[in-house]
Amino acid sequence: MPDSSDLQQIQQAILDWYDEHGRKTLPWQHNINPYRVWLSEVMLQQTTVVAVIPYFERFTEKFPTVADLAAAEVDAVLHLWSGLGYYSRARNLHKAAQMVVNDFDGEFPNNLVGLQKLPGVGRSTAGAIASISMEIRAPILDGNVKRVLCRLHAVSGWPGKSSVAKELWDLSERYTPETRLPAWTQAMMDMGATLCTRSKPDCSNCPISNWCEAHMMGKETRFPESKPKKVLPERQTCMLMIINQHGEVLLEKRPPAGIWGGLWSFPEIDAAEELVETVESTLGMQLSDAETWDSFRHTFSHYHLDIEPVKGFVDTQPSSIADGDQQAWCPMDKVTDLGLPAPVKNLLLRLQKSI
Ligand code: SF4
Repeated sequence: MPDSSDLQQIQQAILDWYDEHGRKTLPWQHNINPYRVWLSEVMLQQTTVVAVIPYFERFTEKFPTVADLAAAEVDAVLHLWSGLGYYSRARNLHKAAQMVVNDFDGEFPNNLVGLQKLPGVGRSTAGAIASISMEIRAPILDGNVKRVLCRLHAVSGWPGKSSVAKELWDLSERYTPETRLPAWTQAMMDMGATLCTRSKPDCSNCPISNWCEAHMMGKETRFPESKPKKVLPERQTCMLMIINQHGEVLLEKRPPAGIWGGLWSFPEIDAAEELVETVESTLGMQLSDAETWDSFRHTFSHYHLDIEPVKGFVDTQPSSIADGDQQAWCPMDKVTDLGLPAPVKNLLLRLQKSI
């Protein structure tokens, strides 16, 4: 945490920079009211100022007030939103407008708790609406502000982690001044958007470079830290591409629950060691001319699966394998009509070419 003398100097330096360089002519900076600030904040959650401006202008022309938005058909709202993506935000916008009209007598709540009751309004958006349009002292912590604070204090750890987020909220709270709240909020957002950018921070023109710990270390872009990559467990399987004397391949339907549920795949064994014996004991078939293909990795959200494909032939089919719902000999030219997991489909296409 900064001491109070540094704190005041940093606040002043940021506000002075804003007075000279900050953005003051954005469409939502005119006729400021909670509706317009809220609208701009929700739109800016997913894209840049430049992209948002025409959407904001079309939206406010069609729906100049929160009551107009609340009265609109949701399809009309989605239509105007089209191109901004994340349509759940547009739906939330519409729901929130109806909530303002129906539950709050057409006025946005004038406190953070009330604002956060609106669908799609989190703590940072509530802080922006409250500080910019109501001059309430409320911190914000959008992506731009996180970046500035992470660098200023060399905050380590991924900001999505709750302990890091708490540290950043505490910093944002501490830095938020008592006065000039709309300017402060805009200044912090502008610092992150135009100066302290993700890959090329313009530290030589930054008003707080003398205090910035990341800059002093020469490691600006190391902050904020990225989300740690999950180390996924690894599993192995051997997929058996067994072809009978008619040129058909043996496929099995996977159980309905679990990975590739209900799709068709090859019989599997744990490993290709002692292959002939294992195939005989598990499937009751005498495999010949076995050929192991290169292994490859398929990654699911929660593990890596290393697949070792083995191609082999059988002359006689055991009576235990009858064509049916769960196991079938499939003609090669029909296999791709079945529901197949992508790696199995790719193997089958290679198999077709190989025989
Ligand atoms: S000195 Fe550089 S890294 Fe630090 S806040 Fe300023 S622009 Fe960002």
